[in-house]
Amino acid sequence: MATQTQHIPIDLRSDTVTRPTPAMLEAMFQAQVGDDVYEEDLSVNALQEKAARIFGMEAGLFCPSGTMTNQIAIKLLTQPGDEVICDRLAHIYNYEGGGIAFNSLASVRLLNGERGRFTPDDVLENINADNIHYPRTSLVALENTVNKGGGCYYTLDQIAAISDVCKANNLFLHLDGARVFNALVATRENPVDYGNYFDTISICLSKGLGTPVGSVLLGSKQLIEKAKRIRKVMGGGWRQAGFLAAAGSYALDHHIQRLAEDHQRATIIAQCLQNVPFVQSILPVETNIVIFQTPSERVNNEVLAYLKEHDILAAAFGKDKIRFVTHLDFTDSMLDRLIAVLRKASVTLEKKVI
Ligand SMILES: *Cc1c(COP(=O)(O)O)cnc(C)c1O
Repeated sequence: MATQTQHIPIDLRSDTVTRPTPAMLEAMFQAQVGDDVYEEDLSVNALQEKAARIFGMEAGLFCPSGTMTNQIAIKLLTQPGDEVICDRLAHIYNYEGGGIAFNSLASVRLLNGERGRFTPDDVLENINADNIHYPRTSLVALENTVNKGGGCYYTLDQIAAISDVCKANNLFLHLDGARVFNALVATRENPVDYGNYFDTISICLSKGLGTPVGSVLLGSKQLIEKAKRIRKVMGGGWRQAGFLAAAGSYALDHHIQRLAEDHQRATIIAQCLQNVPFVQSILPVETNIVIFQTPSERVNNEVLAYLKEHDILAAAFGKDKIRFVTHLDFTDSMLDRLIAVLRKASVTLEKKVI
């Protein structure tokens, strides 16, 4: 043994960095698989049915990424030249490589919501009149929780009100639910009601739930049949994906309620940051994401470098913001180490950079 304490690096860049637990790996080894393009992979079929049941939907489609499930949904629910309403912070707009234009030839109406969340009135005000000059508004997409909004969530009542406006105006409603389980654990609401409000839902298994890969698109049987064609065109028809699906089913059974621990740890980090001088402001913490503002790009870089020297990885979120995301592989002892390093930073780093 080296005399120095060997630190396991603390990686808070994203909740995608988790490794499968031994029990999850065991479930993967035990998976019954087949060729999913022939729809013969029992583990994939079981995951799709399980996820659909949880959200009160008829059917599901297992895909390699949340970008793919979102993009398939947008393709399903728009025609070329249509307009999609979403918030200016939305992942589908900011982080999917211009996929709305590339895949669906649709335009986008950006809303200026509150940390990425918008209201039924925001939607109403942005529906185009039926006039040949305007793109036809056909789809509303909301994100729950909102990544760029610091992990804030919608309640079911807020979602129901937006859904009412969509139904009254013949608009489809899609949910980018990459972190919807964080929202559900925070609100203690029942996901089965989601099926009443959305035409399609994308959930990610590789974020807080801790699987290596995978997302599921949920919808009616008819929509999911069409979605299979689009997934195939995108190159997402896969073969013995059941090894990955088994990890997903395991996570749905075992890794949802524990998200509350991630939320607690995020809250503790935010409390500590309140007393760190280079932290100018912190977005309110509602789930597992902590975003804070620093005075300048230079300080931002210094803070990230300081953390890295202490084996702590965080993500630059724009030029003068830093994001921590708590997850399955971030333990209480790591939390203690992080807090100690942040406290020390308020003494040593401040002299250096401010
Ligand atoms: C991660 C994420 C996605 C999907 O991303 P992939 O990396 O393609 O799986 C979609 N929406 C949000 C809000 C996300 O955070």
